[in-house]
Amino acid sequence: MPEYTPTIGLEIHAELKTLTKMFCNSKNDPDEKRPNVNICPVCMAHPGTLPVINKAAVRHMIRIGLAVGGTIADFTEFDRKNYFYPDIPKGYQISQYKYPIVTGGTINGVALTRIHLEEDTARSQHGTGGTSLIDYNRAGVPLMELVTEPVIKSAKQAGDFARELQLVLRYLGASEANMEKGEMRVEANVSVSKDQDKFGTKVEIKNLNSFNVVERAIKYEIERQIDEIENGVKVVQETRGWDDGKQKTYSQRVKESSHDYRYFPDPDLPKLKLSEIEEFKQLKETLPELPWQKRDRLNKEFGLREEAVEIFVTDHPIGKFFEDTVKGHESDKEFVSLASNYITSDMLALLKLEDPTADIGEDEVALRMFKISATDFAELITMLKEGKVSSRAGKDILGALLRVGGSPKEYAEKHTLLQKNDEGELEKIIDDIISTNEKVASEVKAGKTAALQFLLGQAMKVTKGSANPAILKSLFEKKLLS
Ligand SMILES: [Zn+2]
Repeated sequence: MPEYTPTIGLEIHAELKTLTKMFCNSKNDPDEKRPNVNICPVCMAHPGTLPVINKAAVRHMIRIGLAVGGTIADFTEFDRKNYFYPDIPKGYQISQYKYPIVTGGTINGVALTRIHLEEDTARSQHGTGGTSLIDYNRAGVPLMELVTEPVIKSAKQAGDFARELQLVLRYLGASEANMEKGEMRVEANVSVSKDQDKFGTKVEIKNLNSFNVVERAIKYEIERQIDEIENGVKVVQETRGWDDGKQKTYSQRVKESSHDYRYFPDPDLPKLKLSEIEEFKQLKETLPELPWQKRDRLNKEFGLREEAVEIFVTDHPIGKFFEDTVKGHESDKEFVSLASNYITSDMLALLKLEDPTADIGEDEVALRMFKISATDFAELITMLKEGKVSSRAGKDILGALLRVGGSPKEYAEKHTLLQKNDEGELEKIIDDIISTNEKVASEVKAGKTAALQFLLGQAMKVTKGSANPAILKSLFEKKLLS
């Protein structure tokens, strides 16, 4: 079986977070449920109206470009892309053709071709009997389009790229990029070839609305194309959709001669000399710590497990909670790793129990409200570290305080969860147990270490689980084995 090399390029659209639309004063509100309330004569293309460029959207684009290490165009302009569908009331979409705001740059090692700015289309809803409803709230919302070079080699790499882009956009405050809500939309160009130096026939897959679907659709498409070729069928250049029910891509339309959009510079909009409008250097200084920078820093500073780092990078509130908790304990390795483990396992499990739909690391930056403060949580970690509470009690305390807050120490005292660490006190208990269980004790002495478990169990029972098991064990051993 000859080896095939898949080649994947992505085109990703994301709605930018601005107060108003790209070329008018209508509100840009992705959460508006009532149709056609955020519209005006400009975005409805009434005759005699003129578009005005939204500076905030342009600034988002420059910051995105700076974050990914792209080149910001000094000269840029908007073009009319002519096509005739009812979701574009003007009969053309304002986009960028020859002079995108950003060229080049990389994300996750994947080279970018360009990132340009355009306006979103209206939302159409096709009903039965040939009726269509159109909601123009989305028409004219600022939309960035990012195109990668065809350098992605696997479905997983494509999914990871899209996830990382979503993170960058969120870190920059440029877009929520929520895929389920259509704020970020992915299209993939997929081809396979046996010849490393030659691309195969390209198939475009549209409407990929979650990271999982991106990966599954690409994986399916790679396998489908290889099958076709192996069976002597020529891969057709076409656009395919994803059928989630069948878990298959399906042909939507075979590519006719390439679209003629008759692009030309929009005469109603001024050309932009960006360096005269924005100070790039100053904008660069406003960039926050970016996901890959945070990943590096967490690795270097704390040496955490990769999974933990990923959770803290992906989930902003939880990452911040971790950093607040370990503040002042940075050099205490045991404390840091206990804190990290408790947050990424117990705390997330508890939060998930309350909200099973919470999907860590996938599309939902969880704005979960926990009432326990980082300082109180740090107190709990210290108690665990010092053996003042058992890990069982630690979980109980966390469960109790997560939603109400309060001091773990006070809670443990009130509910007698503090571990008995006092050797003198424990010694008395042990002496009692040994004298009431002489037979078992002599078995332990004779080398039957399994019998020791029984005595330990008795001691835990007497102390209602509050004794420090490590201390108990060493005391028993001291009494019986030395
Ligand atoms: Zn408008």
